[in-house]
Amino acid sequence: MADCIFCKIIAGEIPSTKVYEDDVCLAFRDIAPQAPTHILVIPKQHIASVAEITAENSNVVAHIFEKIAQIAKAEGLEEDGYRVVSNCGDAAGQTVHHLHFHILGGKTLTLTMA
Ligand code: 5GP
Ligand code: ZN
Repeated sequence: MADCIFCKIIAGEIPSTKVYEDDVCLAFRDIAPQAPTHILVIPKQHIASVAEITAENSNVVAHIFEKIAQIAKAEGLEEDGYRVVSNCGDAAGQTVHHLHFHILGGKTLTLTMA
């Protein structure tokens, strides 16, 4: 989608530090990390937010969660634990309107997002 930062990252028009990639999703390091490990996992298909997950595209989300578990393990987060967050809409503070899941770990997390 035009003017979507994350679609541009997928297209390689904006550089990112990639952690994992396949045909369905991309994982890369957040540009402004809020924890020692802060990774974003996004679908390659433009879905605006959790609010746009449907029966037709939820297979993508299931795939992403499978990869989140693998990525967290590969990053050494599994033993101590980690947080998976998706901000949906303005009140939640969603700033990029392309579905993304934050993986946050590497420290003891508070009850705020990070
Ligand atoms: P949100 O606030 O929408 O839940 O999360 C958006 C996240 O995207 C933020 O944590 C922000 O730091 C990250 N972000 C925004 N622009 C870029 C970018 O160009 N590159 C990377 N790697 N992360 C970005
Ligand atoms: Zn997009």
